[in-house]
Amino acid sequence: MIESVNVITKEAEIKYIHFTNLTTSLLKNRGFQFKELGTDHNFPIILATKKALISNAKKKLIIADAHGNENLSVYGLLSYLLTESLPLDQTVSLICCLNPTGHILRTRLDFDKLNSNRGYSEKDDHKSNATRAILANQYLIFDLAQDGLLTLHEDPDAGNAYIYTQDKDMAQEARELINKVVTPDLKIASKKQLYGLDVVDPNDKVFDNCVIIEGSNESLERWIYEKQGIKCFTGEIPGKLGVSPQTRINAHKALISAFIRQ
Ligand SMILES: [Zn+2]
Repeated sequence: MIESVNVITKEAEIKYIHFTNLTTSLLKNRGFQFKELGTDHNFPIILATKKALISNAKKKLIIADAHGNENLSVYGLLSYLLTESLPLDQTVSLICCLNPTGHILRTRLDFDKLNSNRGYSEKDDHKSNATRAILANQYLIFDLAQDGLLTLHEDPDAGNAYIYTQDKDMAQEARELINKVVTPDLKIASKKQLYGLDVVDPNDKVFDNCVIIEGSNESLERWIYEKQGIKCFTGEIPGKLGVSPQTRINAHKALISAFIRQ
């Protein structure tokens, strides 16, 4: 069998550059500063940070668009920035697009068919450009996420929202976060639905219907938790047909807003 080769068209590249220019201007206007963590086939992976005005402020990190076919998360992030004010007493950092080539191709994996959310253990040789960028800046990432990490995902097979966290001590906070996405058009999952969808890895444990305690794997969140004990939450917004894009964008925004207020 011949493996298909990814192609980035000039048109898709221009669209992405235009999109990132708009995002950067918005963040600049909101007082963010930028650092390039690495590149994914010449597309920069950017960390944006808005420093608190007080010392000893809480520091939180939000990462969107790790999987390119789940990219309504970045629109939820932009919608949050356009309509809500960031707290002055927190240092908030954002990686708006962890997987630029996946975003352009609208694929879960990147151009090299690698997963931006895996490969964080030392033994894994198949590291994506995003994984390498995070690992190269790990002490900065640990510092900026010291009071919490929120990663934004969508599950294309799910009709209801759920959330991953790393330890049962964080389950209550995870539950409170995911409760905030509930609207008349979007519900949170029941345990039965999660098992029905087969989303649960044998190492994972469903703790409280829609809260999954992630088992050992090589995910970004598991790695940060195991290395530093940082609180991590991974929102899974339903991507199934029938849940409108606007509802999904609003759900990401609600999750971000709740995490910042936490
Ligand atoms: Zn995902």
